[in-house]
Amino acid sequence: MSDQPDNEKQIWTHVQKKIKEKVTSQQFTTWFERLKLIRFNADEAYVLAPNSYCGEWIENNYTDILSSTLGEVTHTCYKVKLVTESKEVKEPEPSVQSNEPPPKEKNRSNINRNYSFDNFLVGPCNRLAHAAALAVSESPGTAYNPLFIHGPVGLGKTHLLQSIYLALQKRSGEQKVLYMPCESFVNHYISTIKTGDWDGFRNKYREIDTLLIDDVHFLANSQSTGEEFFHTFNALYTCQKQIVLSSDCPPEEIPAIEERLISRFRWGLITRIDPPGFETSVAIIQKKTAHLNMEISYDVARYLAEHATSSIREIEGTLTNINKYAIVSENKIDLDFVKQVIGRPTKHRSYIGIEEILGIVTKHFGVQLSQLHSKRKLKSITLPRQVAMHLARKLTNLSLEEIGGFMGGRDHTTVMHADEKIKNLRKQDRNISATLRKLESTIKKQRKQ
Ligand code: ADP
Ligand code: MG
Repeated sequence: MSDQPDNEKQIWTHVQKKIKEKVTSQQFTTWFERLKLIRFNADEAYVLAPNSYCGEWIENNYTDILSSTLGEVTHTCYKVKLVTESKEVKEPEPSVQSNEPPPKEKNRSNINRNYSFDNFLVGPCNRLAHAAALAVSESPGTAYNPLFIHGPVGLGKTHLLQSIYLALQKRSGEQKVLYMPCESFVNHYISTIKTGDWDGFRNKYREIDTLLIDDVHFLANSQSTGEEFFHTFNALYTCQKQIVLSSDCPPEEIPAIEERLISRFRWGLITRIDPPGFETSVAIIQKKTAHLNMEISYDVARYLAEHATSSIREIEGTLTNINKYAIVSENKIDLDFVKQVIGRPTKHRSYIGIEEILGIVTKHFGVQLSQLHSKRKLKSITLPRQVAMHLARKLTNLSLEEIGGFMGGRDHTTVMHADEKIKNLRKQDRNISATLRKLESTIKKQRKQ
């Protein structure tokens, strides 16, 4: 299949020459130089890639260039098909150099051994959740009970729950610890409805010392499971057993969840994980690349942090991709290479910067930025100041501390307080609510431009 007939060879030489003019020389050497046109049929052209990764990459990113250039040379419209030598298709994936076992390697109990406290990077966005999880692992049942950790996906909730599991297991094999995604709890409940083995169901949960339930927002889907969970919760809590819960939203926002369950959650500590700010993202990127044995400069880490999405899971995915393509294309991971790899497939994160928010808020309320920064407590200034903090909280990935920094060096509790205050006002005051909607839409429009 890799033989290239003369006709195809000639055409390909022209095509490559033209492609060279359309892409950067690095792109050309990385992706196009080693391609070969091997055959045509009526409307398809088969291009041989040196390996399946390269093929996949070209297919996802460069088929337009390939087919249009082929069209220019042959005056025919072909659909380009990327193929690889069959032996290469079967070749195992290039192993991503890593000190850790593949992340998906989990044991029977769904526990990922990499999700330890040691591998968790602490920053302003997760400091409290981390400290609370650590305290719970040191003195379960007494530190914070229950501990409720919430925040958007991909920010380390499961990691922290499993860190507690691993730490407790390590310290005392005697402790009965159960980690469970809430979905499994719900499934167990549903299957028990069928089997009727309620003793078995209750004993499973009530005999343990520490119960870690991940993603409890799942309870929202079933009222009767919520009810059973409530009883399980009470039984454990009464015996001073530790309960740790995670959710993608705070308890009161879990739809259809009973008030009495919410108030149980409030007995302990409710803490939120925020998306990492810039510095934390850089530190996470450096930690992860060190694990992957990837050598990257500070500039590259910065670039990645600037272009990363707010989810740490996605940051990990991007790093793994970069590493994979660097190995396949035998490239050094410098800024150009990284730009090329993440430039195309990942849509640039469309940032809403706090500067834009401040610009729009000051303009709307007719105040100066310096007045927002000041300590003055006039209502005409405190309202726009608090609105700015609320909008920054809602629309950016900045942590409380970072927002405080932009607001004239206020501390994170002030930001939290302002956010709460405006949230409440929003519910009570129609004018404020309309103003906020208008401001939000102006800010979002500005982002799209
Ligand atoms: P969630 O449960 O909040 O959706 P996960 O706990 O599954 O998120 O985390 C997603 C990925 O990001 C995991 O691979 C996890 O190890 C990693 N991760 C999240 N937070 C951190 C952190 N602070 N330090 C290191 N890795 C992190
Ligand atoms: Mg999770």
